[in-house]
Amino acid sequence: MRVLAFLDGTLADPDAAHIRVDDLGLMRGDGVFETILVTDGRPRELGPHLDRLARSAKMLDLPEPDRAAWERAVRAVLDNWSGGAELALKLVLTRGIDGDPEQRPTGFALGMEIGAAVLRGRAEGVAAITLDRGIDPGLAERAPWLLLGAKSLSYGINMAAIREAVRRGADDVVFTASDGSVLEGPTSTVILLRGRTILTPPEHIGILPGTTQAGVFRGAEKAGFATKVEPLRVDDLLTGDGLFLASSVRKLTRVRSLDGTALPAATEAHAELSAAYEAEYA
Ligand code: PLP
Repeated sequence: MRVLAFLDGTLADPDAAHIRVDDLGLMRGDGVFETILVTDGRPRELGPHLDRLARSAKMLDLPEPDRAAWERAVRAVLDNWSGGAELALKLVLTRGIDGDPEQRPTGFALGMEIGAAVLRGRAEGVAAITLDRGIDPGLAERAPWLLLGAKSLSYGINMAAIREAVRRGADDVVFTASDGSVLEGPTSTVILLRGRTILTPPEHIGILPGTTQAGVFRGAEKAGFATKVEPLRVDDLLTGDGLFLASSVRKLTRVRSLDGTALPAATEAHAELSAAYEAEYA
C-alpha cells in the first residue's frame, strides 16, 4: 500500500512515473527529505519535521518550503491511506529541473508501509558496527558547504555504510569522527544509557538533530531520567548500561552488540523509555 500526493494536494499513482529524467534530485541528489512516522492517522512531530525540512532546504540554498502546501500534501496522503495503523511518510523536495529558468522545486509526499527489517529491529534489537566517517568534529562548522547535518537526498554514503555492516554480519552502523568521537547512525541518532541518564552527541559536530531523540528526551525527563547532550566516545558506548539507535520509523531500537561485543540488554530501561516516548503521543 502506497499513497502519493503532490504539493497542490493532488493524488497520483505511485506506480507510475512522475519525475523527469533531468530533475536535479535524480541527477545530482540535489534536494532534501524527511521521513515521518504516522500512527493512527497522526503524524508524529510534523512541526519539527517541517522545521527541519526548511532548515535543510536553507543549507542547500533551496527556496523556503511552502509550509501550507506540505501540510496539504501530508493531509492528502493520510486522508487516502487505507493500509495499517502505522506508516512511514516521506517528504521529498528537489531543486527541480536542470536549466528551468524559474527553478521551480519538485516536491511530493509518499506514504508507505513500514519495512520488515525495521519491525524486526524494533522487536529484537540490532547488531551494529562502528565505521569511520572520515570527518573531524570541527568540520561541520568550518565547512558548511559539506552540508553535514542537512537531511539531503545524497544518502549514497549512508546506504553504503549499511551494506558494509551487512557484509560484516551486522545490521547497522555507528559513524565515528576521525578523533574517535561518536557521530550518529546512517539513518539514526545514537542514544546511550548510563544509570538513569540518557546521553546523545551534540549536533554541532555535524550530525542531524533527531526529532525522535528530542521526543525520547522529553518523555524520559518526565519519567525521571536525566538527559545530557555531550560528546561521546566508542568506549563510552561499550561501557554504558545500554545503547539505542533512534529514528522516526524505528523508534528507540536497542543495539545488542557493537563491533561484536555484546552490550547490556537494558530490557527494563528500554521498556520504560519506550513507554515514556509513546506517552508523548498518547
Ligand atoms: N541521523 C540521520 C543521518 C538520519 O538520517 C536520521 C533519520 O533518518 C536520524 C538521524 C534520526 O532522525 P529522526 O529521529 O528525526 O527520524
